[in-house]
Amino acid sequence: MKKVSIVVPCYNEEESIMLFYKTIKKTVIKMKKKCSFEFIFVNDGSKDKTIKVIRELAKKDNSVRYISFSRNFGKEAAMYAGFEAASGDYVTTMDVDLQDPPELLPEMFDTVDSGEYDCCAAKSTNRKGYSFFRKTFTKWFYALIGKLSKTEMVPGARDYRLMNRKMLNAIISMKEYNRYSKGLFGFVGFDTKWIEYNIVERQKGESKYSMRKLFAYAIEGIIDFSTKPLIISAFFGLLFCLIAFIMIIVVIVKTLIWGDPVGGWPSLACIIFFIGGIQLFCIGIMGQYLAKTYSETKNRPIYIVKETEEDLKK
Ligand code: UDP
Ligand code: MG
Repeated sequence: MKKVSIVVPCYNEEESIMLFYKTIKKTVIKMKKKCSFEFIFVNDGSKDKTIKVIRELAKKDNSVRYISFSRNFGKEAAMYAGFEAASGDYVTTMDVDLQDPPELLPEMFDTVDSGEYDCCAAKSTNRKGYSFFRKTFTKWFYALIGKLSKTEMVPGARDYRLMNRKMLNAIISMKEYNRYSKGLFGFVGFDTKWIEYNIVERQKGESKYSMRKLFAYAIEGIIDFSTKPLIISAFFGLLFCLIAFIMIIVVIVKTLIWGDPVGGWPSLACIIFFIGGIQLFCIGIMGQYLAKTYSETKNRPIYIVKETEEDLKK
């Protein structure tokens, strides 16, 4: 019988975990003839009682395993830790807020188990429960990254997906520190079937992604999966050289014909500001790539474990 590992990243989710567990158990019972399950809760340095709730679950149910981080490392790190720890033939990752409906699991399982696909992933057709601002931001981001990156990034794609071992091993083999899973899933390739569903609002608690965090995540995605911003900044450089060259000729010709009356410094000031701004912007872009390269070369661990279910047995 096949085993499915469910990786669940949790950050300050004391209210959501029990509800998630009870809800998913219904699906697990329905599927018990087809496969067995293991849960891997990853406590991403929560500041509330998340770890206590998880420990209680692990004591009662031996299909529940957990990894607790020494501090908050982010959802990407939490997913990676879960993937590395997973022992199942198939692995799926779900948010604990029930925005990824467990009812899709049987279809996902059948799709991958038939051998026709390596992965079955969920994509939401709407963005219910998110602010207008966030919806617009997300839409623009996907349009932009679609133009900038060669890696396929599907708008509305969730991290929620069920993968076979081959695809999972490919994901695990990518040990980069700056992780952008939506890109990594696209990068490794493999045959993915998409199923669409209407997203529901978060059941308990609130979103752990502030606009600032989301913006940083978006920049991460672009820098990790495209070098086009560098080409664009080089293009700006070239364009301004060309404009400057034309301006020089115009100024020389004008001086020869009409002499050299002093004037025009306000426009000069504007030009200096403008070019200065563009230069700083381009240096900023380069700086981003350098910063990412820097953090990769340091080769620091993606996450640090403080406690696992093994510690309960001691
Ligand atoms: N999460 C995490 N670490 C973080 C932020 C979030 O493990 O630093 C988890 C969170 O507990 C949840 C999932 O990632 O299970 C998705 O988070 P959330 O629902 O807040 O994101 P949103 O739905 O707003 O995109
Ligand atoms: Mg959510």
